Amino acid sequence: MEKEAVLYERLPNDKVRCLACARYCEIGRGQIGLCGIRGNKDGKLVLYVYGKVAAVHIDPIEKKPVMHYKPGTKIFSIGTTGCNWLCRYCQNFDLSQRRKIEGDDYSPEQLVGRALEYGCHGMAYTYNEPTIFMEFARDCGVLARKAGLFNIFVSNGYCTPESVSMMKDFLDCITVDFKGNGEKEFVRKFVGIPNSQPVFDTVTMLKDTKIHVEITDLVVPKVGDNLEYAKKLSQFVYDTYGPEMPIHFLRFHPDYKMMDFPVTPTKTLENHYNIAKQVGLKYVYIGNVPGHPYESTYCSECKKIVIRRYSVDILEWNLDENNCCRFCSNKIPIVGGLDKGYREKRFEFVI
Ligand code: SF4
Repeated sequence: MEKEAVLYERLPNDKVRCLACARYCEIGRGQIGLCGIRGNKDGKLVLYVYGKVAAVHIDPIEKKPVMHYKPGTKIFSIGTTGCNWLCRYCQNFDLSQRRKIEGDDYSPEQLVGRALEYGCHGMAYTYNEPTIFMEFARDCGVLARKAGLFNIFVSNGYCTPESVSMMKDFLDCITVDFKGNGEKEFVRKFVGIPNSQPVFDTVTMLKDTKIHVEITDLVVPKVGDNLEYAKKLSQFVYDTYGPEMPIHFLRFHPDYKMMDFPVTPTKTLENHYNIAKQVGLKYVYIGNVPGHPYESTYCSECKKIVIRRYSVDILEWNLDENNCCRFCSNKIPIVGGLDKGYREKRFEFVI
C-alpha cells in the first residue's frame, strides 16, 4: 500500500520538499528521502509504508517510557521500516535502518480493531521514528480516538511546525527522546544530524498543544554523558515546562555499530538524576536499570513512594482516586491510572 503524503510542498522541475521532519529533504522525481520510506513519484510525495506494518507488539505504557500518563495501561504498539536518524547504537536497527518497504498489510481500521480485540487502552507509534509515517499514524489515531483509545508517539522530536500541527489531530501523549543530552558533537557523530536544535524547538512547540509530554535522554558512557549538557537540558526542560515535567535518564546498552561500548554505569545515571534535581525538576527517573529506586515515583512533598515500580511493573499504588498522595494529599501530576483498574487487566491473554 502507498498513499500520497500531506506533509510536503511542490517545487519547480517536479521536485518536492518533505515537511515531515527537520531534514526537509528536497526529492527529485523517482528518488526517495533519507528515511527511505517517503519518495517522489511522478512529482508527488508518496508515503510508501502507508499500511505496511513491520512490527506489532503489546507493551505496558511504562516501556515507552511514560510514567505520568495512564500508568498501568496496555498499549498496542506499531512501527514501520525506515528512520530519519542514523543512530549507531539503535536497538531497533533491523527495522529503522532497513531502507526497504517491508511489513504486513494492515489498514487503520484493522489495527484499531486488533487493539480493541486485545483489550488495549491505547496505541503507540514507536520502534522507528513515527513522524516519518505521520499520515498513516494520523489515520490510525483518529479512528483509535473514536474507538475510545488514546495515542502515543515515541519520538526523537526531530519534527517541524507542520508535523507538530498534524499531531494535534490525534495525539494524546508523546515522549521526546534526546540523545547524549542533546550535545552537538554527540548527535553529529552518533546520530547523523547537524545538531539537536529542532528537538528543543519541538519540545517548545508541544507546549502550545494539549499533548502530554515526557522527556527522555539516552546517556551514552564517555561520549554522551557530559554533566554540563545534562544541566543545560534539565534547565531547558524546567524553563519551558516548570518543575513538574517528568524526565528520564536511560541506560545505554551496546548494540548495532557500538558493540564495543560498555553499558552506562549506574553512578553516571545517578549523577544525571542529581543534576536534574538540583535544577528543580521534581519527577526524575532512571530507566533501563531494573530494581533501581529511581524507577519509582516519589511524592514531591513528603518524599514517600507513591508508585513503587520494578522495571515496567507497578508493585504498589499509593495515590487516591484524584491521584493525590495517600500520605500527605499532595497532588501528583499524573493523568489517569490504576483507579480505572488498568493494571489488573493488562496482562490477561485475550483470544
Ligand atoms: S521524513 Fe524522510 S523524506 Fe521527509 S524530510 Fe525527513 S528524512 Fe526526509
